[in-house]
Amino acid sequence: MSRRKSPTGRVAYVDGRYLPHAAASVHIEDRGLQFADSVYEVCAVNGGLLMDEAGHLNRLERSLHELAMELPMQRQALKAVMRETLRRNRLKDGLLYLQVTRGAYRRDHMIPDAKRPSLIVTARAIDPQTYEKRRAEGIAVATVPDIRWGRCDIKTTGLLPNVLAKTKARQAGAYEAWLVDAKGCITEGSSTNAWIVTKDDVLITRDLASNILAGVTRAGVFAALSRAGINAVEERAFTLAEAHAAREAFISSASGGVLPVVRIDGRPVGDGKPGATTLRSHSLYRELAAEEARGRPSGLHGESAEKQPIKRRS
Ligand code: PLP
Repeated sequence: MSRRKSPTGRVAYVDGRYLPHAAASVHIEDRGLQFADSVYEVCAVNGGLLMDEAGHLNRLERSLHELAMELPMQRQALKAVMRETLRRNRLKDGLLYLQVTRGAYRRDHMIPDAKRPSLIVTARAIDPQTYEKRRAEGIAVATVPDIRWGRCDIKTTGLLPNVLAKTKARQAGAYEAWLVDAKGCITEGSSTNAWIVTKDDVLITRDLASNILAGVTRAGVFAALSRAGINAVEERAFTLAEAHAAREAFISSASGGVLPVVRIDGRPVGDGKPGATTLRSHSLYRELAAEEARGRPSGLHGESAEKQPIKRRS
């Protein structure tokens, strides 16, 4: 196990070794590099707490299962690696990144029978004020056609369409891209789930049956709203026109929690300021996730919030 320090002090875990971040690498024949034959997760670390860990590990296992891949170690051992990576990086606030690739083989499209997956774990510090500023000011989104494949429920590193969409959005002066399907409905963001709040205070986000990623934060927001007795929530497709007519809009993701969307394609959402329902959703979610991270079972992913029945407005 290497104890060499990287100049930045960052340490990465790769297949059993903790290495200076700059020295950590995988083989050039790794199928993650050759074919994006790999899956990943991103967990937030807030004040030293690993948020929504169970939800992320559940989804990682699901992604692996869908691609007939395996975790290279038991879940308990992975949790120990995650904590050790945080410790070695002295990380209090930021992101923990996990990636499992199918491993290195002679290049061939056909999936090999042998199983020798690689595991990469990295950590990156982020000043929490970066996101708090975005939360206070709100962010802009730009719409981009959704050109992704039909298995967006699997969190693979095959992210080129997402990368192109985010880049287009940034070039248009927006922070995030909202992806639009052939029917003119928003599917999700390039790395976030998309929500709107109607004038009647109904929260709407796309249903999981229609080729989006089941966001762990999305599930956490559902659980937090339900715990607070807020049941006016609908899981369904919504159009760009509905989004323009909404009173509020927001995005959810592990990295930023809930962030208000105040402009869509340059047009203000509602009064153009972060909305009360959005900000409440964020604080309810963070409260619930922090309770869970402190070891107080809050129901966040005990029953797997992803599978919880969603109460709909009658
Ligand atoms: N949708 C996409 C396409 C994503 O890449 C992500 C996160 O990376 C999300 C939604 C949000 O998911 P989570 O809340 O689990 O971070």
